[in-house]
Amino acid sequence: MSGYVGRFAPSPTGPLHAGSLVAALASWLDARAHRGRWLVRIEDVDAPRCVAGADQFILRQLAACGLVPDAPPVWQSTRGALYQAALGRLVASGWAYPCACTRSDIERALAARGQSKPRGGELVYPGTCRAGLHGRAPRAMRMRSSFGDCGHEPDIEWHDRRLGAQRQHVCETVGDFVLKRADGLWAYQLAVVVDDAAQGITDVVRGADLADNTPRQILLQRALGLPTPRYLHTPLVLGGNGEKLSKQNGAAPLDLGDPLAALREAARVLGLGAIHGTAVADFLAAATAAWREAVA
Ligand code: GLU
Repeated sequence: MSGYVGRFAPSPTGPLHAGSLVAALASWLDARAHRGRWLVRIEDVDAPRCVAGADQFILRQLAACGLVPDAPPVWQSTRGALYQAALGRLVASGWAYPCACTRSDIERALAARGQSKPRGGELVYPGTCRAGLHGRAPRAMRMRSSFGDCGHEPDIEWHDRRLGAQRQHVCETVGDFVLKRADGLWAYQLAVVVDDAAQGITDVVRGADLADNTPRQILLQRALGLPTPRYLHTPLVLGGNGEKLSKQNGAAPLDLGDPLAALREAARVLGLGAIHGTAVADFLAAATAAWREAVA
């Protein structure tokens, strides 16, 4: 057994489909190819988006594909105390601060500066509450995307094992981001960083749609004194509208009756070539050898 620890971290918003299986299979293959451990974490912090029973269904789908975690899965909804402790540390060190702004406050402040470019529906927070709440009631907690002046902040640079050298100026591109939402829910960025560290994850293998979050996660890791894992973002499966495959654009749940067909398709997306095997276990063994060769 090596020191490698990988994970698959599905949000239980619905069953696995062809797109999510690609990330699940890649993370499993990478762990096996490195003779490491593979964990599953159910990312159910965004309770309103979770679907009852989807967690157990996902675990059954994974098991049907032969992807069985090396330790019992963890549920983020049980880990609020860890997120709270991390938030406390970020507040104490001056990285996190309370924010009283509503969306329309943010829109108004951006308009007053002549900036209104939304980024995938998200507004770049203009930093209004960095200087204090001035008597307004706190709503969300935010993370500073720079400690001092945004313009002087260097890019966050990181290496992706598939995409190569990456960089992002978090402060200009994303701005101060939410750690705890106004409705009291923990934000993905904080939960994922705390859990990856708490679970000793050395390698994050996940879909390329999440690559853009990595710099925020690295910023949080540095502010919390946590190690940065290696990252590999896998190719996406596109839906009929050219966007990432999702329930919204017609992704069908994986067919539990024919896991081999689903695995073959995922291996094809991963560029593993023709994998032989007429049973799930044979297929996975052959795919692990192919993966090992591809990443060697
Ligand atoms: N829960 C996230 C999702 O399903 C994945 C998080 C991650 O792998 O970092 O999109």
